[in-house]
Amino acid sequence: MKLERNVKKFYDGLAEGVIYARKCKECGAIEFPPHYACNTCGYHDTEWTTVSGKGVLKSVITPVALNANNTLAAIGPYCFGEVELEEGCSFNSTIFGVDAKNAKKIRGKLPVPVHPKFIQMDGYTTLMFEVDEEVLAD
Ligand SMILES: [Zn+2]
Repeated sequence: MKLERNVKKFYDGLAEGVIYARKCKECGAIEFPPHYACNTCGYHDTEWTTVSGKGVLKSVITPVALNANNTLAAIGPYCFGEVELEEGCSFNSTIFGVDAKNAKKIRGKLPVPVHPKFIQMDGYTTLMFEVDEEVLAD
């Protein structure tokens, strides 16, 4: 797979456990996934920065049979949901640790803390998230 230089930087970072994002040079907003313009103030110029990957899960959407993904299911129970990083950006992601069995319990606790989970898939590393153990334990 041939990747554009900036996209390559992003995936090379993930392979090393580093999450790159873009920071607006005007207002300081963090854009993740990386965008080249700021979605907060509309400024055209952003620069590379990194984010911790720590954040909270704000919604839980369980996959239905039609869109279930066998590759993901082989890794562990998963759902989809909106993640908000501590740096302030929100996006949708695959979330491990939650599935139809415990979705109701987790929904009752939202927002719950999540951490990054780096998954090897199709020859590159991709970023997903996992609900923190303490949340699942009780
Ligand atoms: Zn901005």
